[in-house]
Amino acid sequence: MVRNKIKFWRAIKLCIASTFLIYVAVVWSNLSHKNQLSINNMSEEKTFACVANCMDGRIQNTVDSYMKEYYGVAYVDMVTEPGPNKILAENKDKAIVENIKKRIEISVHHHGSQVVAIVGHFGCAGNPVSKEDQIAHLKEAKKTVESFGLGIKVILLWIGEGWQKAELVE
Ligand SMILES: [Zn+2]
Repeated sequence: MVRNKIKFWRAIKLCIASTFLIYVAVVWSNLSHKNQLSINNMSEEKTFACVANCMDGRIQNTVDSYMKEYYGVAYVDMVTEPGPNKILAENKDKAIVENIKKRIEISVHHHGSQVVAIVGHFGCAGNPVSKEDQIAHLKEAKKTVESFGLGIKVILLWIGEGWQKAELVE
């Protein structure tokens, strides 16, 4: 009788131990599966581009779509200021220019962005001048961004009236 009782408890213990082991094995395999997934996601997330964009809400989607379509990136980091082409062309307000530089650097160093676009657009409150003047600003702004020495491609975009289409400024 006593011996049977001992056998019974041994069987219970064995049962609990093996359940625990199975549980550990399942949790372990789930964890390593999750790690594998996050590694896969990381490699997908590596496709970023960067934009020194105006803060204007009317142009955000247009710029985002342009960069995704022409550079095949999954994500677009937006560094926004009112009239970034003016700010970067003048290169006078060092605090803002430094801050823009810092944000582009994060996009390049942490997200691997290979290209940065600078944007000018119709009806800009931060840079309320003609298209011609804004294009001139874009070209000067390019020199400022190139002086950051990040070794990435710098392109210029103009968004015209209606804010639906981005065109490359040569
Ligand atoms: Zn603007």
